[in-house]
Amino acid sequence: MPELPEVETVRRRLQACLPGLLLRRVVVHDWTVSAQTEEELNGYLAGRRVARLRRRGKYLLVDLEAGPAAGDGPAVAVVHLRMTGQLVFRLEPGDRPPRFTWELEPDAALHFLDMRRFGRLWALDPEDEDGFFAARGLGPEPFGPEFTVAYLRDALAGRRALLKNFLLDQRRVAGVGNIYADEALFRARLHPLRAAGSVGPREARRLHAALLETLQAGIDHEGSSIESFIDPAGRRGSFQEILNVYQRTGEPCRVCGEQIERTVVGGRGTHYCPRCQPRRGGMAPGSRRRPGSARSIGRRGPRGELIG
Ligand SMILES: [Zn+2]
Repeated sequence: MPELPEVETVRRRLQACLPGLLLRRVVVHDWTVSAQTEEELNGYLAGRRVARLRRRGKYLLVDLEAGPAAGDGPAVAVVHLRMTGQLVFRLEPGDRPPRFTWELEPDAALHFLDMRRFGRLWALDPEDEDGFFAARGLGPEPFGPEFTVAYLRDALAGRRALLKNFLLDQRRVAGVGNIYADEALFRARLHPLRAAGSVGPREARRLHAALLETLQAGIDHEGSSIESFIDPAGRRGSFQEILNVYQRTGEPCRVCGEQIERTVVGGRGTHYCPRCQPRRGGMAPGSRRRPGSARSIGRRGPRGELIG
C-alpha cells in the first residue's frame, strides 16, 4: 500500500506536469470510486485550472483555481490510492481500464488505475477541507510543526495498544503504514509487540527521530516498489533495496547477523530483529554486539579464564 513516501513521490511527479493545465471534464468509469456522482464531481472540478498539489498523510490533494464562469469557485480534489491506486499521466490509459479519467487541456489526461478498487476520489470546497480531515480523525503530519518529541511522548503515554498498531493508527501520526512502521521500529531498536505506553522518554525521542529518518529515506528513494507502486511516469522507487527488516524474514540482520523474524499484528505481517529489538525495555544504540562476537565470548584459556 502506498504510504507517505510513495504518495509524496506521486505528488512531486504530478506537481511537475499538472499545474497550469485545465481540467476540462472528470469521466467516472467505475462509480464506486466516489460517493459523489460524476455530475457532482464536475460541478466542483470541471473548467478549472490545476494550481498545485499537496499531500496530507496518505491523501493526495489537487488545488484547482476558480473557473471563469460565475459561481465556479476554487476547489480541492482529494485522492486516496489505498492498496493499489496509481495515477497515470498520459493520453491513453493502457491495457487496464481506469476507474476515472481527468480530461485535461491542452491535450493530456490523468487516469486512475486501481486493480483492487479500494481507492477513492472526493471533490471539496476548500473551506470544507479541515472538516474533511477532522471527520477522519487524521493526526499530525510527521514533518509538520505539531509532530514534536513531546507530542509523541504524550500520545504514547498510558496506551495499551501494541507499538506497531500505534504507529499504523492514522489518528496518532498521519502517513505511516506497514513498511515504514516496521523499518522505523527497527531503527529505533523497539520491539513491535511492546505496549505503546511502556515506551520511555528516551525511547520516544529515538522513535521520533527514527520515524522522520525512515520516512525521509523513503522519499529520497522515491518510495518502495514492493507490490504495485509505480510513480505517474511509470518509474519504480528503490527503497525496497535498503529495507532492514520488512519482508526479510529469515535473512540476517544487517546490524547483528541474527535472523529477522516475522509475526502478525492486527492482521499485518510484522518484521523485526529479535536481538536489536528486545521485547523488554530498549537496547541503547551502540551496546549491540557485532556479528560473530557471541561465539568468542565463550572461549576459555587453560586456567578457565575467558579469552577473546
Ligand atoms: Zn539485529
